[in-house]
Amino acid sequence: MNDLWLIKIGEISLKKGNRAYFERMLKENIHKKVQRYTSETGVMAKVSSRRGRYYLETGIPEKDVIKILESTPGIVGFSRAYKVKKTLEDLAEISISIASECLSAGIGGRFKFEVRRTDKSLPLDSYGYARELGGVLLEALPELTVDVRNPDFIIKVELREAGYVYQMQKKGTGGLPVGTAGRGVLLLSGGIDSPVAGYLMSKRGLKLTAVHFHTPPYTSPEAHDKVVRLAAIIAPWCQGLTLYSVPFTECQLKINQSVHPSTTTLHTRSCMMQIAEHIAKKRRCAALVTGESLGQVASQTLESLAFTNGSVPIPVFRPLIGMDKEEIVVLARKIGTFETAIEPFEDCCTLFSPEKPVTRPDVMAERLVYEDIKGLDNLIEKAAEEALIYNFDELGKAVKN
Ligand code: ATP
Ligand code: MG
Repeated sequence: MNDLWLIKIGEISLKKGNRAYFERMLKENIHKKVQRYTSETGVMAKVSSRRGRYYLETGIPEKDVIKILESTPGIVGFSRAYKVKKTLEDLAEISISIASECLSAGIGGRFKFEVRRTDKSLPLDSYGYARELGGVLLEALPELTVDVRNPDFIIKVELREAGYVYQMQKKGTGGLPVGTAGRGVLLLSGGIDSPVAGYLMSKRGLKLTAVHFHTPPYTSPEAHDKVVRLAAIIAPWCQGLTLYSVPFTECQLKINQSVHPSTTTLHTRSCMMQIAEHIAKKRRCAALVTGESLGQVASQTLESLAFTNGSVPIPVFRPLIGMDKEEIVVLARKIGTFETAIEPFEDCCTLFSPEKPVTRPDVMAERLVYEDIKGLDNLIEKAAEEALIYNFDELGKAVKN
């Protein structure tokens, strides 16, 4: 049997002229995800929309539907819904069954009805339906009480072309549908921060490509594998993700030979940004995204950020800029990247970072030093060309190139 899910949008509904575009993108994103699932399992799924509401009719198991919808930006909430005839008997029957489920799940016995009636031809108004259905429920299940101020559960009834009854209101991730804000390149390290930065920008509608820099043999295959796994974990939030894995050793060694030891991290960052920008051009991306947060480490002071910012002509988005580590960790746990991110494999930045890094670089002077590094331009192009590509689909599964 197929279940019916009702999906609600938030910010999209505030859009005026181009609301239809945002709605179409969201529908397409949900459709692609469920289609990916159904093409693998043969289960049926149909997405439809009517007046700013979306309906998913499917045989996909509940836990998988929840996973799919929770990780789709643009959705603010969703519920398992029951479509019934608009008669009091039918509405009452399904309400009793929902309330019994709530009781046996131990949610508590205080309830209220919320009724929305758009079908004006019906014999009662919204309040009338709430009163009648409430009465039936109290009679059928005496352990229940009505509490309109502080209910343990709310049964929602919508009376439109059919009757829809639902209770479980799952929270979605909110934001805007992926792809509605253009395309960007995420600099993805193996740490806690950058996967969260990717999640936050996906939530603003940016379609991401990830780029990782690794420095073999100084960095291990395990460190690399960890980043590949992180990319797979965030792929559903990104509506699928391509990861470029860039061999960075030659650039890193060239920088280390050419600049003052206290400034290596700074120049390394600039170099990463420039390689990322090369890849951005190739992928038609118009912005970079990093997991930097103001003052977190020496390379993230105002002066250091001003320096790295100046290395590329496109905007660099830093969605974590005003967040502290605890706030970032909460999000990393929510999207499921935390446990992987804290695995103890060193990435290139940690290995090559100076003991005493500058915190307030002279931006102009360091720019001249950077531009004077002989042969770096060629190495940057070569590194971008030699990147290996990994693809993950909308459900986070690896796809063969
Ligand atoms: P994270 O926890 O994401 O590693 P961090 O606090 O350790 O961040 P840094 O190591 O200074 O900070 O890196 C700052 C940002 O630069 C990262 O969030 C990421 O966007 C980018 N970055 C750093 N190292 C790499 C790398 N090896 N590959 C790709 N991007 C990187
Ligand atoms: Mg890091």
